[in-house]
Amino acid sequence: MSRPTASVATVTQPVAAAPPAAVPFFRPDVRQPEIDEVVATLRSGWLTTGPRVKRFEEEFAAAVGADFAVAVNSCTAALHLAVEALGLSPGGGVLVPTMTFAATAEIVRYLGAVPILVDCDPITGNIDLDDAERILSGQRHVQATTGPTVGIIPVHISGLMVDCGAVERFAKRNQLWVVEDAAHALPAAWRATAADSWTWCGSGTADVTCFSFYANKTLTTGEGGMAVTNTKALADRMRLMSLHGLSHDAWGRYRDGGSWDYRIIAAGFKDNMTDIAAAIGIHQLARAESMRARREEIAAIYRHRLEEEEAIEMPPAGGANRVHAWHLFPIRLRLDRLTIDRDQFIVELTKRRVMTAVHWRPLHLHPYYQDTYGLSPMDFPNATALFTRTLSLPLFPSMAEAEIDQVIEAVLGVCTRFRK
Ligand SMILES: *Cc1c(COP(=O)(O)O)cnc(C)c1O
Repeated sequence: MSRPTASVATVTQPVAAAPPAAVPFFRPDVRQPEIDEVVATLRSGWLTTGPRVKRFEEEFAAAVGADFAVAVNSCTAALHLAVEALGLSPGGGVLVPTMTFAATAEIVRYLGAVPILVDCDPITGNIDLDDAERILSGQRHVQATTGPTVGIIPVHISGLMVDCGAVERFAKRNQLWVVEDAAHALPAAWRATAADSWTWCGSGTADVTCFSFYANKTLTTGEGGMAVTNTKALADRMRLMSLHGLSHDAWGRYRDGGSWDYRIIAAGFKDNMTDIAAAIGIHQLARAESMRARREEIAAIYRHRLEEEEAIEMPPAGGANRVHAWHLFPIRLRLDRLTIDRDQFIVELTKRRVMTAVHWRPLHLHPYYQDTYGLSPMDFPNATALFTRTLSLPLFPSMAEAEIDQVIEAVLGVCTRFRK
């Protein structure tokens, strides 16, 4: 994952005067209200989990339509807390898409369980439930477990949600819990048909939904994450485990009238969010939909000006039954129309001062998963094929028009120069 370069606007509009030398892959959209709130937090004398985290949790839960929200220091921590709260135990299996970031599977390993990798849909890149069905029914064998398969962790790649109705039916039929890796899906929504109302990601689309506020995500707190759920027992367990398994947190102990005493109820973790991070998140959240709308606009410009180019394919837009978060704009190369491969395409874009990223080298093509589970590229043919031809263009709300043009001209220029 490429590290974004920070550019902090000192006014409420992003500063985009002279186009930079290169278009970065991402630049956080940080404005004056975030800065003022961080300064106020620093001056307040309360830096760790406190009143601003409480406020961020309440406003976040309301924004996505969840009953409970637990703020933590990463999406990885949220996912870890979620599977722990759901009782994942050593040897058990969890269905995880191979086309995902490291975090989705490693948290299953944290608990000594087995991430059973599943191939992806060739168009969306999202988890292929038919492949999951084949694996569960024993029609094809990829990885051994010593315990039952208990859950599934869909990832809404780029912010294009999976068919949540299909996931729910699949999970019910197979008695699985569902934890969503919604690191790309804020805000995003799904509906089965145009006659249905929108279901927002996090409003009960899974047992637990986990969001990321990493520096280059759609909403950032530098580092941070949120686990949301409609089940109080899960929220309570995640909150308890997020802070050493203590009976009440520091804010409860040290504020006026708080008690000094606490009890260790479980061997917990240290995953809590700071008030400094929450100060940023509160104001990012207030702009979440306007930032999404701008990303959607840029995605439409890309589509409009690139879709005629035969050497590339556009990412799916989701149609009438999705609100797409547009965290990423992953184009796919038609390698049969080009004299260069994906890696060389990226080098050529870099020469034209456009930074890109690849989402992702699938897990089964990484040494750890290959060596631990004896996996080979053809175990997951769709993900293997998609990996060889995908790359993500810069897409962030503070992109200047000149930067959007620079990306489009670079992509078209490379296609023309290396057309077969
Ligand atoms: C970024 C990302 C994560 C991890 O988020 P952190 O907040 O950095 O822990 C997990 N899953 C996916 C799909 C991601 O893109």
